Amino acid sequence: MTEQGEAAAPTGGITILRSDWVLPIASEPVQDGAVAVEGELIKAVGPAAEVMGAFAGAKVLDFHDSILLPGFINCHSHVEYSVFRGLIDDKNFGAWILDFIDYRSLLGEADHVASARLGASECVASGITTLADGMYFGASIDAIRDAGLRARIYQEAFGLDDHRLEEDMAALAARLDELEGMAGGLIEIGVFPHAPYTVSANHYRAIAELARERGLKIATHLAESRAESTYIKSGTGVLAHDLREKVGWDYISREPFGVSPVKYLQQWSVYGPDVLAVHCVNAGPRDIDILAKSDVAIAHCPKSNAKLGCGVAPLPAFLEAGIRVGFGTDSPASSNIMDIFGEMRTAIFLHRAMRQDATVLGAAECVQMATLGGARALGMEDAVGTLEPGKQADIIVVDMEFSHFTPIYDPYSSLVYGASQEDVFFKMVAGRTIYDKKVILTIDEEETRARAREVKDRLRA
Ligand SMILES: [Zn+2]
Repeated sequence: MTEQGEAAAPTGGITILRSDWVLPIASEPVQDGAVAVEGELIKAVGPAAEVMGAFAGAKVLDFHDSILLPGFINCHSHVEYSVFRGLIDDKNFGAWILDFIDYRSLLGEADHVASARLGASECVASGITTLADGMYFGASIDAIRDAGLRARIYQEAFGLDDHRLEEDMAALAARLDELEGMAGGLIEIGVFPHAPYTVSANHYRAIAELARERGLKIATHLAESRAESTYIKSGTGVLAHDLREKVGWDYISREPFGVSPVKYLQQWSVYGPDVLAVHCVNAGPRDIDILAKSDVAIAHCPKSNAKLGCGVAPLPAFLEAGIRVGFGTDSPASSNIMDIFGEMRTAIFLHRAMRQDATVLGAAECVQMATLGGARALGMEDAVGTLEPGKQADIIVVDMEFSHFTPIYDPYSSLVYGASQEDVFFKMVAGRTIYDKKVILTIDEEETRARAREVKDRLRA
């Protein structure tokens, strides 16, 4: 498909990527377009003749029958849980999370590393260039960095016993000291108070304060399941009883709060433009109003929410309220594969079916959400999300050389209704090619899969 040199770190010279379609996202699609890249940055975007004329003599990678666009921003993942793919497939959220806790306790440090590398390797061989990853054990950082991806990695935090508040916060602060020392390059650190049923109100408030003191962004699971709403509203249900028994959390307050999960967190000064709320399936009109007024961003994970029987988050209402929304795949423990194409397609189909209206969400709108929308949700829109001069060269090329992509009237439609991550042919992050001709150039895929299979054998035993 293309004549090109070996993958390499950014060189001093300019490289031009040419494709039959270029989607800058910030402007209309360009047929027969090109992007000039210098070092880690985009230098020019436009019609191929213009770009090639402006940089005569530059190295040209010609992808011909393809669509070139900014890499996808995956607004929610947990690459550390990739070895749980397919392990707990057909259980409702409450039962699923109880099983998940059991399996998670069986893994050791080497397993976390194997699992995180599996997830990172999957993300390289996909459309994803940026991850917002929730990490607990600490294995995601090296895995994602070795893979060559860009990420904000949020340290997950739990804490329901207010008697331990000081101790928990000191431990979190020490942990963040350590992680901030490991950050840099394409990796940024954030903080992830896990969820309203695993973090007390006082812990939430203290964690948000600590994050803001350090200038770190915050993410949290929110309003994911009916079980969570029941627990927060009335202090009952599977999260009040079974979860407490399982993890020995006798100290969990059984006091009902009488409000929705969204309203509950508002009372504890958690919200702000630096917060990413993940899921928000059970968000009513008043909740949406709270989130919009606080400028909280949302990670929409339609496949995970549907598969766990949680429901369908009201995405059209989020967008109508002006909330910043990006797509998240969630972890392979719940959604099995981290394919943003699948998330886009699932979202369009679910929301159109729910509203019995084929004008709900468009293909272009979905691709915009998967790129610039995700970048805005993470506050990274100055660096990534579109193809514009001065922005980071985070670029994917989707191979369209197949009968099922022919002909192309609208490249957005071809991507959303027809493509999958297997169709991604080439990927560059910060000007560095990490995936070429469908081969991962950064980590050893064979070895990564072999180690993941070893973990599986042990889990089975
Ligand atoms: Zn999650």
